[in-house]
Amino acid sequence: MPLGSGETLRLSEKLKPFRERVKELSGEDVGLCYQCGACSSGCPLTDEMDLLPSTVMRMVQLGVEEVLNSKTIWICSSCFTCQVRCPRGIDVANVMEALRQLVLRRKYDRVSIDVLPPEELRELPQIALVSCQRKLTG
Ligand code: SF4
Ligand code: SF4
Repeated sequence: MPLGSGETLRLSEKLKPFRERVKELSGEDVGLCYQCGACSSGCPLTDEMDLLPSTVMRMVQLGVEEVLNSKTIWICSSCFTCQVRCPRGIDVANVMEALRQLVLRRKYDRVSIDVLPPEELRELPQIALVSCQRKLTG
């Protein structure tokens, strides 16, 4: 049976090289990264990450899709310190967001509001809850 146009689109999306998909979503050319490490050395959250931001960049460069399993992409707070420091003008935060999007588009939720106790829900600032839902749920 011939594929409908929607199916053709989805299929071509899957076949597109990983690095291309990240570039399309982020607008960043990770091929420019020469692994100087400035992004990692300035990142305030590396203690909580399982991969350094520069390692994430290298994995995307090499098309290693396993980077999507990394905790780092969820820990990144989009503070843009790395973007300011990168000598190649790469916005690493945009790349992190693109990687999150690739996961979330599979209808994946990193957090579930249902598991939060009602008393905590009442206490948490609304703006934090909304931004958490926007960033971490599909
Ligand atoms: S934007 Fe993310 S990766 Fe870059 S410095 Fe901030 S927390 Fe680290
Ligand atoms: S600062 Fe830029 S060039 Fe250096 S490792 Fe990070 S992304 Fe690559």
